[in-house]
Amino acid sequence: MRLNLAFSVGVCATLANASLEKRAAIDDCLSGAGVPTDARGSTAWSQDVAPFNTRLKYTPVAIVVPSTVAHVQAAVSCAAKLNIKVNPKSGGHSYASFGLGGEDGHLVVELDRLNQVTVDSTTKIATIQAGARLGHVATQLNQQGARAISHGTCPGVGLAGHSLHGGFGFSSHTHGLALDWMAGATVVLANSTVVNCSQTENPDLFWALRGAGSSFGIVTSFRFNTFDQPPQVTVFSANLPWNNAQQAAAGWTKLQDWVQNSMPAEMNMRVFGMSFSTQLQGMYYGSQSQLQSAIAPLMTLLGASLGSTQQTNYMGGFVAYDNGDNVDPSHPYSQVCLPPPPRSLPVLTIFAARTLLLQIPRHHRPPRRRHDRRHQLLVLHRQAELPLLVHHHRHVRGQERRHPQGPGEHDLVRSPG
Ligand SMILES: Cc1cc2nc3c(=O)[nH]c(=O)nc-3n(C[C@H](O)[C@H](O)[C@H](O)COP(=O)(O)OP(=O)(O)OC[C@H]3O[C@@H](n4cnc5c(N)ncnc54)[C@H](O)[C@@H]3O)c2cc1C
Repeated sequence: MRLNLAFSVGVCATLANASLEKRAAIDDCLSGAGVPTDARGSTAWSQDVAPFNTRLKYTPVAIVVPSTVAHVQAAVSCAAKLNIKVNPKSGGHSYASFGLGGEDGHLVVELDRLNQVTVDSTTKIATIQAGARLGHVATQLNQQGARAISHGTCPGVGLAGHSLHGGFGFSSHTHGLALDWMAGATVVLANSTVVNCSQTENPDLFWALRGAGSSFGIVTSFRFNTFDQPPQVTVFSANLPWNNAQQAAAGWTKLQDWVQNSMPAEMNMRVFGMSFSTQLQGMYYGSQSQLQSAIAPLMTLLGASLGSTQQTNYMGGFVAYDNGDNVDPSHPYSQVCLPPPPRSLPVLTIFAARTLLLQIPRHHRPPRRRHDRRHQLLVLHRQAELPLLVHHHRHVRGQERRHPQGPGEHDLVRSPG
């Protein structure tokens, strides 16, 4: 027994020494290459290491804060030499803290200082650095010619993690997922070379990025096609009379049928389920009166009536669902975007329910994506105290893969070399 204890203490001491040596070696390599890092114990370190999901905290071996693509390349090269896992973090909103590696000891490449957005006034293509958050992207696209791309609701979510794994929100029925608007990317690969990819340049990498991006490299910037903002949108909600499991099941069936067969392309909706009420929430690309006539058949079908409505402009629609977050966030960012807890329900339960959007077939897919069939069916259990059931199906070039995770969470940790 005494021998075992002595052996265990010896193993622990050896491991601690090894990790200190690794830390010193990566520090040396990074400083030799002139790569900026967060000092351990500094305010910047604390901000960058804070996970959105505070139950999953991890300690990186070092945090790199690049301001150039060359810094990212040098960081990947150092990590590969020392056999340290390296992974990028953009908005830090991975539910599983994959931006921090999902375990201790990764080299984290914190990209949120790289957040420039530039719209080409002729092609209307936006070049967006990988650390930009959704709210900053929406604000800049609005300011640079009232343009937009399709994406989710929370301003603090990073465009990179979001669009590399899907990205849906209140424009997805009308305009598809965020990844449908990607036109190209600049990527640092595991061997630290930098490449561009698009439909015509490294097309296989471009295909792989749109759905599994974090497995193939560190994107340093994107090129996105953009669309004209609609002149007006109408934000709405309706309480659904689903008071028991039978009513909920019957209601879901009717809703799915309407969504699949009758829903106009301008309608974007989600179901917000809680233990005490279930709401349809959405955004209609049109005026209040157009919404009223478009949604009337669904209200009749479900025995519901339209609740609040607000006609506004496109940015007004984005703000309506920002949950009080800063609409144009940049570094330093303190993670909020949680709805206030109604009654005594735990915030995270509500939040988990809130983020499950009703994803529906799209009438207006951008033509270049027609070869890919992506459908997602999300089944939300109405009793928020019980586990949420999420079935996430994805069809890629005729093959179906099933992911147990929620949307936007196909994050994989990549190891260099
Ligand atoms: C509050 C909140 C609201 C949300 N709302 C929505 C929503 O409305 N719609 C929706 O679809 N999803 C939504 N999500 C899910 C969100 O889109 C995903 O969690 C997404 O992966 C987060 O991206 P990020 O850059 O913020 O996270 P990060 O933690 O920085 O990154 C997530 C993953 O992407 C990888 N990654 C990050 N940057 C890069 C890069 N530059 N190159 C390669 N890989 C990279 C990371 O290594 C990690 O594996 C929400 C999540 C939260 C927490």
